[in-house]
Amino acid sequence: MSENFNSNKPKMNMPRPSLTWLYVIIALVIGYLYLTGEEGSGSKEVTYTEFQQMVSNGYASRIVAYDDNSIEMYIQPEHIVDVFKKDASKVGRSPFVKVQGGSMEALEKFLDQEQKDGHFTGSLSYKKQGNYLGMIFWNIFPIFLLVGLWMFIMRRMGGGAGPGGAANVFSVGKSRAQLFEKGAANKITFKDVAGQAAAKQEVQEIVDFLKQPQKYTELGGKIPKGALLVGPPGTGKTLLAKAVAGEADVPFFSMSGSDFVEMFVGVGASRVRDLFRQAKEKAPCIIFIDEIDAVGRARGKNASMGGNDERESTLNQLLTEMDGFGSNSGVIILAATNRVDILDKALLRAGRFDRQIYVDLPDLNERKEVFGVHLRPLKLDDTVDVDLLARQTPGFSGADIANVCNEAALIAARHGQAAVGKTDFLAAIDRIVGGLEKKTKVMTADEKRAIALHEAGHATISWFLEHANPLIKVTIVPRGRALGAAWYLPEERQITTKEQMLDEMCATLGGRAAEEVFIGRISTGAMNDLERVTKQAYGMIAYAGMSDELPNLCYYSSSDEYMFNKPYSERTAERIDEEVGKMIAGQYARAKELLREHAAGHNQLAELLIEKEVIFAEDVERIFGKRPWTSRSEEIMAEEEKTTPALPDSSAASAPDTASEA
Ligand code: ADP
Ligand code: ZN
Repeated sequence: MSENFNSNKPKMNMPRPSLTWLYVIIALVIGYLYLTGEEGSGSKEVTYTEFQQMVSNGYASRIVAYDDNSIEMYIQPEHIVDVFKKDASKVGRSPFVKVQGGSMEALEKFLDQEQKDGHFTGSLSYKKQGNYLGMIFWNIFPIFLLVGLWMFIMRRMGGGAGPGGAANVFSVGKSRAQLFEKGAANKITFKDVAGQAAAKQEVQEIVDFLKQPQKYTELGGKIPKGALLVGPPGTGKTLLAKAVAGEADVPFFSMSGSDFVEMFVGVGASRVRDLFRQAKEKAPCIIFIDEIDAVGRARGKNASMGGNDERESTLNQLLTEMDGFGSNSGVIILAATNRVDILDKALLRAGRFDRQIYVDLPDLNERKEVFGVHLRPLKLDDTVDVDLLARQTPGFSGADIANVCNEAALIAARHGQAAVGKTDFLAAIDRIVGGLEKKTKVMTADEKRAIALHEAGHATISWFLEHANPLIKVTIVPRGRALGAAWYLPEERQITTKEQMLDEMCATLGGRAAEEVFIGRISTGAMNDLERVTKQAYGMIAYAGMSDELPNLCYYSSSDEYMFNKPYSERTAERIDEEVGKMIAGQYARAKELLREHAAGHNQLAELLIEKEVIFAEDVERIFGKRPWTSRSEEIMAEEEKTTPALPDSSAASAPDTASEA
């Protein structure tokens, strides 16, 4: 997202810790070591008897008695060698002997005697056991070292993550929310959100709450605290939340659910607390939490998985905060997710995120609108047809469309054009669906022929099946990992019938069938097709209850995230497998049948493909004649009614055939 909000960082008036005092600590250590090294470099412990002997020998220069009865005797320079058996240079300037004495009186008596005898001429002094400083130092130094190290790591970690590197050791528990102040010059409004009429209507209510809360509270109503925007990525949930803030002209805090989660215990919860504290200061305002499933997953469902205490405590804090502030405080929380089914039920309870607003992938007309928004800043030539672009981008999200427009502009610029044209857009769409063209991939003539026959197989079959998706084009130009592809225009439907699914399956199997019928050898090139077909068949039989043997049974559980246990018996599992095999075999036979029937046309198509590498629906029409079935997508263009979302249609825009790496 590149909206030019003036993004103010939330205030963080804690000082940034510098490395300075780490250096100070290091300097202290070095200093201490140096000083102590000067002071008593050489020392030696002796027994009291030895000590007495040494004093009697006249070695002592001065004696220090400590209150714990330990004694240090400094040695006369000329006797150092006698005591330490080493050269004076090796033991430092003032070496001493340490000894544990019995009592102060005994020592005094002994020294008095020695003084009288003339053996001891030095001084006696008393000291408290002095080296406390050093002791304390050595005790706390490791702690300092650890703290320093920790700070260092934190800075490293925080530096990358926080906005502008502001995160640091003191703000680990601070929320990392981005704040968009109200009244920003470039604010986003509903005008910037194309399509999504239903969602806009629902959030309009929230805008009203924020604008005139008294209108609702006077009647005793409670303003909702939160709404959940549910939908696939890139459909404009963030955009919509920002538009709500823009329309109501209130500040907007934006944060991602994963920002709460850190490796440090308690950080998430304290970030939640901080976020709400900041928000309350700015009320009325909006808090937007993207990807709330990062914190909001159902708690402790799988005890065996060990759970995630940190995430749970973050979630608990979030729940507490949501309950804690009064419903009329003017803070409204919007959260986005694409997996509402895995969210903790407590989050969805009344008084929390009790409103769910669906933000779906745009349909044909909505795509036209989204194109409208994103084509505005581009310089276009008159070949660009928004209708066609919208039709060529089934299943694209708003973000994908924004991407197409940008990519098209880049392609046009690369070719040095003055304006962006239709071909640039088509190239951009191809690129986004299929990846980069790999013109350099080397193929032998045999391989090329095999791929052409395979792709022509898909094309032929889809041409002759009523419910198969209408073909747009077929290519054998390698792109991404695909060696060739047939591109279809999937019909956008909310529910899919069994006939439609079977026809699609048959068309998908057409590639492999063509290999078998016309080459006599099958290859790994069809692996991708087979995977899709197998998955689809399992889905039809185990989930959609579409087989004759196991009719009307659905073994899918929408509430069980992992499905560790199969909800059916071994015997049923076997029957499912059997049914899947039967269904695929049936469609495969049907595909081969169709191919034999239209063998001449198919081969013509393959030849054309080898020659031109890309062929379009018009070329296919020239070979086979007009398709006997009118596609429904033309009809959809006219009518624009959208029923409530049911089973999402999972048809893809293309059927690439991946080169097997095996
Ligand atoms: P989400 O939060 O749902 O993942 P975003 O709101 O971040 O999606 O959308 C990403 C980008 O896609 C937006 O910045 C915008 O450019 C574009 N976009 C998505 N949906 C729409 C829409 N309905 N109208 C206009 N632009 C859209
Ligand atoms: Zn294929």
